This record gives sequence, structure tokens and C-alpha cells, in this order.
Amino acid sequence: MKGVVIKSTGSQYWVRNEKGEKLVARARGNLRLQGRKTTNPISVGDRVVLIKGHDEVWLINTIEERDNYLIRRSVNLSRQEHIIASNIDRVFVVITISSPRTSMGFIDRVLCTAEAYKIEPVLVFNKMDLYDTDDTEYLNAIAFLYQNIGYKILKVSAVTGSGLNDLKQEMKDRTCLFAGHSGVGKSSLLNAIDPTLKLRVGEISEAHRKGTHTTTFAEMHELSFGGFIVDTPGIKEFGVIDLEKHEVSHYFPEMFALLPNCRFNNCLHQNEPGCAVRKAVDEHRIASSRYTSYLGILNSEDLLEDWEKD
Ligand code: GDP
Ligand code: ZN
Repeated sequence: MKGVVIKSTGSQYWVRNEKGEKLVARARGNLRLQGRKTTNPISVGDRVVLIKGHDEVWLINTIEERDNYLIRRSVNLSRQEHIIASNIDRVFVVITISSPRTSMGFIDRVLCTAEAYKIEPVLVFNKMDLYDTDDTEYLNAIAFLYQNIGYKILKVSAVTGSGLNDLKQEMKDRTCLFAGHSGVGKSSLLNAIDPTLKLRVGEISEAHRKGTHTTTFAEMHELSFGGFIVDTPGIKEFGVIDLEKHEVSHYFPEMFALLPNCRFNNCLHQNEPGCAVRKAVDEHRIASSRYTSYLGILNSEDLLEDWEKD
């Protein structure tokens, strides 16, 4: 029987089968792990095949190949990885202009990570009911910037309900993840579009503050109109990526498009001669905020040096 893992405790799994029934299952004893050193062989989002074991217990017999997965690297030397969730179709980046103000650095980190994981991002500007003329002007400038790069933009309000039908359409029948600072309205938006979810306001951020790295697991909630929402205590970790330096610009689409014009094909777009990206930044064809975010990611400690990778 086929199904999708919607919840895990690390030893027990809740699997939703194709009829929509939820079954409790365990991993088959000698289930082969696929290559990586992970602390959890099966994650939320995995498409699995169940068989009946002894005593009528459901066993996860095989895991289908993952389209993508979010990982968190352990901080200790073992370099073990924890798979937070897999097979995610879309990440909705919830942005607010005030209370709280979302930084461009945060937006670009999430977008870069989404590109690296091959998850389609959608930018959701929330709290549209709150903004004054200055806020709106700032918002429109940001929206224009990202629209030009090719990203989808939505403007919504969890309070007035404006734009929520569009958001629903973008989520329908997909496995979705919401990313955003605490307080931007992630739980409010989800409750407004699907009242059956009954997420406590502030719940998502609370969960991750209390959680420790080894004991927290993501969970998938079924959307009443079709699809899933991944609720992960590690939602903040979405900004942590594991890339080689020369790859980072591959995940800034407007920079990647110019790479063939750089003199060196492994150009980091810093001080190399004949760099087409630097030229485009100077000529305002690439936003300086994007370039600043790029340099920030390039020089952050999350990145492994090429020689460190195994
Ligand atoms: P989360 O931490 O991202 O899940 O944010 P919450 O959903 O807990 O919302 C944080 C606060 O923002 C709460 O007080 C909400 O009532 C408020 N809020 C959420 N969406 C909106 C909105 O569209 N407009 C206004 N004015 N307030 C909102
Ligand atoms: Zn370059």
C-alpha cells in the first residue's frame, strides 16, 4: 500500500494512504538508508510503500526517491544530518513591511535556499491592511524588484481576507512550507484560509524556541481544499544551506543568467577581472540589495569550503 509520511516521532510514523486513511507504521528492521549519514532514515513528506508485518503491524518497506529534502546538519563533529521534511513543492515566504519589518537579507537567503533545493518560492506580502503611504511605496519597490527576477508575488491580509483566494489557489494540491520571521502572520494566514487547521497564533515560533535539535520533528497538516502544509519546528533553519562557494550565484537567477559573460566560469563575482555581474550591479541592472545578500551568503560560515566536502 502506498502512502505519505505525515508525522514522525523518530520510531513511529503516521502514514496517509491513498484513501486518506491515517495508519501508524514502523520502519522495516533492515530498511536500507540511502547513502547519506542521516539521523532519521524516514522523514515527513516521504512517499512510502507499506507492508503488513507480524501481529498485523504496518511496516514501511520502501521509500521512493525524494524530489528534494530540507536538512539540518548537526553541530557536532559527526556531521550527521537530520532530514526535516521532503518532497516540498512550494515555499511561501511571508514578508511584512512593518511589525515586524522583514529584511531583504532574510528574503534573499530563503529564495537562494529554495532555488538550491528546487522548491518554487512565492513571495507573500502580509498585513496589507496596516501600511501607510511610505510603507506601500517601499513594498511596491520590493515587489517590483522580485517580480522582475521572475518570482510570483501575492499581497494579502489575514485580517481583512484580501488576496487569500489567490493564496489558496497557489497552495491547492501542493505540499507547502511557510517561511518568515516570527510575528509576520504565518499561523494567522493558515487559519484564515483553512479554519480546520486551528493553529494557535504564535504556535509555529513557540515550538521552535522550545525545541532541541534532536527531538523536534516536522508534521504535515492536510489542507481541507487539497494539499499539505508542513509545520516544522526548524522553519528558521530554512536559511541554512550547504553550498560550495562557486555555486551560490547559481541560485540568484539574475546573476546566473550573466555567468556565461564573466571571464572566468567559476567567477565568484567579487574582485575578478571581466565580471559581468559586477558590471550589471554598477549599471543598476542587478539590485544592489541582492548583490549585498549574495556577498553575505558567500562569506557566511554555513558554507563549506570546497575542500571540506566529502
Ligand atoms: P507567526 O509567528 O508568523 O505565526 O505570526 P502570527 O500568526 O502569530 O501573527 C502575529 C501577530 O500578527 C498576531 O497578533 C496577529 O493577529 C497579527 N497579524 C497576522 N496577520 C495580520 C494581518 O494581515 N494584519 C494585521 N493587522 N495583523 C495581522
Ligand atoms: Zn562574475
